[in-house]
Amino acid sequence: MKRFILLLILCLCIFPLISSAEDATPPIRILIVPGHDNEVYGAEYGNIKEADMNLVLATQIYNILKKDKRLKLYITRDSKDFVREFKDYFVNQKDKIIAFKTKAKKDTQVKVDKGTFVYKKGVGHNQVNQETAIGLYGINMWANENKIDLVINVHFNDITREDKWSIGTTKGFAIYVPGSQMANNVESTKLGESIKKELLKKYSVSNLPVEKKGVIADQTLIALGASNTLVDGVKSVLIEYGYIYQKIFRNSATRHQAYKDMALLTSNGILNYLFKK
Ligand SMILES: [Zn+2]
Repeated sequence: MKRFILLLILCLCIFPLISSAEDATPPIRILIVPGHDNEVYGAEYGNIKEADMNLVLATQIYNILKKDKRLKLYITRDSKDFVREFKDYFVNQKDKIIAFKTKAKKDTQVKVDKGTFVYKKGVGHNQVNQETAIGLYGINMWANENKIDLVINVHFNDITREDKWSIGTTKGFAIYVPGSQMANNVESTKLGESIKKELLKKYSVSNLPVEKKGVIADQTLIALGASNTLVDGVKSVLIEYGYIYQKIFRNSATRHQAYKDMALLTSNGILNYLFKK
């Protein structure tokens, strides 16, 4: 009996230790980035602006994942503007961000000259202005400093059209991941593939020939860590959920249903990558 009581006391002492050890596991840190902002709003169809679409979808992904205790969620923008943390960071760290960007580009050029980094022809993307570039490099610098595990960039796509009311024939989603020579390529690609698998349950891959694989390596997008501005621990994907003029997005009801479905599928893709063995 004494032995039994001793064992019971021992168990009662050890169990709380085990559970508190589990609680002490640091959460996985995820940054959700709704692409563009209120001033430079990206693509446009009729009265629909990409930055607004990105924000709605990104916020839904954020809200789904936020409920999971194993994760710690961050988002760069809300319905008003950039959230305080990022707004302040862009202003207070401006000089540091510019130095970070300049050094990264210089280091890459040295590698190019030595032949250890080769520029590959990829999908053409729109150039960004200086202010936007500071924002994007700033987010990368912040993600490195804050030991972010995953960065999820949310976008809708576009092609050159006659005017904002014309409808193109290109449609479907595409997930951009860092190129093979970039530090965060391998794991980001796995994350991209996991999200693609989920999105395929309801949506089709882009019919643009360069996007037909669904997961596309890219060296030039700042959000993915161009010039190696994201360290290898920061996995990053940039999801183009479809072309802005597609029928499903033109109608308010189907657009809002798509946000809901896409947010759920994306979240499942992220969770499968993180926890499914
Ligand atoms: Zn965009």
